[in-house]
Amino acid sequence: MSNLIQPVRGMNDVLPAQIGAWQHLERVARGVLEAYGYEELRVPILEHTELFKRSIGEFTDIVEKEMYTFEDIGGDSLTLRPEATAGIARALISNGLLRGQRHKLWCTGPMFRHERPQKGRYRQFHQIDVEAIGLGGPDIDIELIALSARLWRELKLERVRLTINSLGTPASRQVYRARLIDYFQAHEGALDEDSRRRLLGNPLRILDSKNPEMRTLIAAAPLLTDFLDEESRQHFATLRAALETLGIPYELNPRLVRGLDYYSRTVFEWVTDALGAQDAVCSGGRYDGLVSQLGGEATPAIGFALGVERVVELLLQAGAVPASAGPDVYLVVNGERAERAALRLAEQLRDALPGRGVVLNLGGGNFKTQFRRADRSGARVALILGDEELDRGVAALKPLRHEAGQTDCPLELLPERIAALL
Ligand code: ATP
Ligand code: MG
Repeated sequence: MSNLIQPVRGMNDVLPAQIGAWQHLERVARGVLEAYGYEELRVPILEHTELFKRSIGEFTDIVEKEMYTFEDIGGDSLTLRPEATAGIARALISNGLLRGQRHKLWCTGPMFRHERPQKGRYRQFHQIDVEAIGLGGPDIDIELIALSARLWRELKLERVRLTINSLGTPASRQVYRARLIDYFQAHEGALDEDSRRRLLGNPLRILDSKNPEMRTLIAAAPLLTDFLDEESRQHFATLRAALETLGIPYELNPRLVRGLDYYSRTVFEWVTDALGAQDAVCSGGRYDGLVSQLGGEATPAIGFALGVERVVELLLQAGAVPASAGPDVYLVVNGERAERAALRLAEQLRDALPGRGVVLNLGGGNFKTQFRRADRSGARVALILGDEELDRGVAALKPLRHEAGQTDCPLELLPERIAALL
């Protein structure tokens, strides 16, 4: 039996070889979000289990079977967050930040769901969450979708399509819900186990079923769109007209209901044909009822969550990740006195060249080995310091990215000569 400790199933390490794509996505997203006036916030990864039960809803995949829930030493039932919206809404309430105010917020980090791990579906995965709170739309709905469209453009991702739907208000949904129950009850024999359980609790969730055997039945079910209240119909029409004005193509998907209970009116999803079965890369919607459901004052809100792993995969497939820059200078050392002096020289260069990468060769090695390391590091310039150079008060500079000879430079002039070479 092996005594190696295995990683937890469905939880991945992001190694330095992959981090470039993650950082590129994070950088571009941060830039776009700041340009639209969104502020970052960070909320805990653990919350009281009750928060997710109350917000996401009892009859959802997440609450029924995907949550990492445990009792802590104090006896509290805690859950690793399966999504961020509930925690953000809770944070606004806990910190007294609502009071009729508006907030445009974003947050990123790991989420946890006990799903069957497969490509694009993990037990620890990451999201970028964007939430606009205190705005009833449809202007903000439009801007949020435009923001996501811009994100794909800036990331140079083309294989994503926008699908939208409206869920109406909870009141109009009640009427539809009754009709849907009638319909599914009439076909009860064709329902799978999950759907039968949801039939009375939350029949809309049946529409979200991933079971292919349920497809025909679902396709023939009554359409929510036919039951929309007048205001929701207007809201949706304004959204659609604006998307057309902005030149953002979309598809209507009357079956798009989204897996969580708290949505109302606008829902949308960016899907791709490049990732196989895991086709949703960014999903969002309006959740006007959530804040009051959690005990805060009634506050309209809309948001979306982007699946980082899936977008990273799209970036890699599209070859849209810029090459990592590597350090600027690699300091090659030869001789005992030079080794000691090099530690100081490297610190001095880091002081004199803020923002520049200065990597000092550590652990010895002959010239050949050190130059190989310098090449591999991607450095643009090698700086060579030997005992002999040290005695003359110089070091040698050699550009690594193009053919060029080595030139001596007085130690005190190094910062400006290096700056000129970069
Ligand atoms: P799916 O239909 O793929 O299960 P979902 O509707 O459960 O997605 P949301 O809860 O809306 O997803 O989460 C938003 C985004 O997070 C999804 O569009 C997807 O990109 C990503 N995501 C969701 N679950 C996972 C997971 N287990 N592993 C990786 N990414 C995920
Ligand atoms: Mg899911």
